[in-house]
Amino acid sequence: MDAYARTPEGREAGNAAKRRWAKANYAKKKATVAVNNAIRDGRLIRGDCEVCGKPLAQGHHDDYSKPLEVRWLCPEHHAAHHRERQGSQPPPGPPVRGGYITFLHNLDER
Ligand SMILES: [Zn+2]
Ligand SMILES: [Zn+2]
Repeated sequence: MDAYARTPEGREAGNAAKRRWAKANYAKKKATVAVNNAIRDGRLIRGDCEVCGKPLAQGHHDDYSKPLEVRWLCPEHHAAHHRERQGSQPPPGPPVRGGYITFLHNLDER
């Protein structure tokens, strides 16, 4: 821990960052749980990668506020998609092929 982090200002900055992270993470978690439950209940079916067609792809959320709107991407194309998106807002893309299929970002890592 550096000296700045020990000051009241530093502590407050750290807390604010933590709150931002927690808020973003909460939405992501909630979206992930919704997808998991939907798969468990048979409301969602894990799809194939929309880029290369690899089966049992990972679910990717363009918008965590729409937890059941997922795109299926294999680990490779999922990572590539996040790299491309970094620092920019996603364009208002075409409708998701295959409908509202889902996954969670961490589903396969648990
Ligand atoms: Zn792929
Ligand atoms: Zn993703």
